[in-house]
Amino acid sequence: MAGECILIVEDEKDISNLISHNLKKAGFRVIPAFNGTAALSKAKESLPDLILLDLFLPDLEGTEVYKLFKQNPRTKDVPVIMVTAKGEEVDRIVGLELGADDYITKPFSVRELVLRVKAVLKRTRGEKEEKKEIVKVGNITIDKQGYKAWAGKGMVSLTATEFKLLLELMENPGKVMTRETLLNNVWGYSYEGYARTVDTHIRRLREKLGKAGDSIETVRGIGYCFRES
Ligand code: CA
Repeated sequence: MAGECILIVEDEKDISNLISHNLKKAGFRVIPAFNGTAALSKAKESLPDLILLDLFLPDLEGTEVYKLFKQNPRTKDVPVIMVTAKGEEVDRIVGLELGADDYITKPFSVRELVLRVKAVLKRTRGEKEEKKEIVKVGNITIDKQGYKAWAGKGMVSLTATEFKLLLELMENPGKVMTRETLLNNVWGYSYEGYARTVDTHIRRLREKLGKAGDSIETVRGIGYCFRES
């Protein structure tokens, strides 16, 4: 994706400029921050797609800055590549233990750095897309791609219709769904008299889900509602 924004946290201006120049050439937007405090405020402000974090900063420890990024809900999901000096094995390990997405040691080739940035962005993009395929409400999890469902940790075997019905309810949590709406959205049609079909399927679905089936609430005279229990 062109124009993704990289926050470069690096106090050495020459290195910062060199990285900026090369990332821009590769089509990225860059924001430089020359110390930890600036990095924290700039990250919150501009919400970068990735952070390059030098561990040796004049004001705060790089690892401290990293922890603060991860504590803030706005920046906690932004991938971080830590930059350490050559031979600082301890920092490399600390960085990975903290959960950084990658690390690179100085002196590095800019070419390698750009490749690492691209690789981490690609990987996190993939993870985000994967997440969209997983719907989790309360105790029930659904894999939309794989047509799989779990109640707690146990996999539940559902028919295609039961699967679609459960998904429809889970994608509208807290909303009362009429039998007619469910028929339209799950079966693709609705006729008078088919309302019983919905009831039958809901009953089977609840049985299969066991305790988690309590999340499907009957709204008397109207339909059903999925509640996060
Ligand atoms: Ca430094």
